[in-house]
Amino acid sequence: MQQLLPKDFLATANVQQAIVVEFENKKTNFMIKKYGNDQYFNLKNLNHIKRIRKSEENPTNVQFFLRLKDDFNDEVEQNIPEEIKPYSLKEVEVAVNMPRTKEQFLQFNKYWPITYKVQQYEIVQFTDIEQKEINQIMRQCIEQAKQTYEKQNKFNACAIYDPNKKKILQFAVDETCRKQNSIKHCTMNVMKLFGQNYIVTAQQKATIVEKVKDIQDEEKNQEDKLQKEDGEEVEEEKKDKINSKRKSEESIEESLSSYYYCTGLDVFIVQEPCIMCSMALIHSRVRRVYYSLKNPKQEQFGGLNEDLMINHMDSLNHSFLVFQNVESEYANTTLSNCQQHDELPK
Ligand SMILES: [Zn+2]
Repeated sequence: MQQLLPKDFLATANVQQAIVVEFENKKTNFMIKKYGNDQYFNLKNLNHIKRIRKSEENPTNVQFFLRLKDDFNDEVEQNIPEEIKPYSLKEVEVAVNMPRTKEQFLQFNKYWPITYKVQQYEIVQFTDIEQKEINQIMRQCIEQAKQTYEKQNKFNACAIYDPNKKKILQFAVDETCRKQNSIKHCTMNVMKLFGQNYIVTAQQKATIVEKVKDIQDEEKNQEDKLQKEDGEEVEEEKKDKINSKRKSEESIEESLSSYYYCTGLDVFIVQEPCIMCSMALIHSRVRRVYYSLKNPKQEQFGGLNEDLMINHMDSLNHSFLVFQNVESEYANTTLSNCQQHDELPK
């Protein structure tokens, strides 16, 4: 299993040549004050690089970053102030891409010094137990997916999972072939079923509360009646009553707990969701998506891969984390077995 990360999280250092000006230590303040934020010497897209460093060859000197070599010209040199003379121009190497991970920072910082800001995109480390749980849920999806296998048809199935309750809430399989409906992808199906079964509207909620109140009133009346009739109620019977009351309260709570779309929930899918389904997942406000097999690149069908990360687009109002290759070996074996036997219960 691996986390799908934007390309720049995995990039190696893009090293380019740059021109710096070396002068005496004591003139540092002057240079920083006068030119540190100067328009002319502004760092443009190189905001992650540090402006100044000590000279390695001469400890009484510092080096001030001027421009990338490609942007450097006579005009830049003419703008270097007289006040810092004597100075010399030097060529250095700098990583021009911004580090997105600690590992990249350590690597990129070996060139000209840079700064590093902790990224918004969370990199998740799983414990062995969590990993096992994830694999186990994916295997269940793969088993469900077998049912959708038909000749020359890829199989797919998915599940909506509540990570807090550690419970699969809804399964759905792909129905594009059997029902000859080209949009009945498993993700679309699971969203529909989940909406029907778990999303309680305000009106439904009010009805449930009303019913619960009626039941509770009825129970209380019964109890009062019994106590009046029979003052010596057997202890065991009392306990039973309390237990059944507790149970009914639990089920009331269960029916009242509704979900706001898929907020805080995870979706498991055997095959990478297509672009349409990826958008549906955005709208569902899902927390994470785990999938097993990538869509073949030549089909250009998938929405959650290195080339098209619909889960992480600045223009959309929700983003979620994606993990791929979950139990992919198991999925591949199951798929090839299906093809060999070519028969599955309908
Ligand atoms: Zn789809």
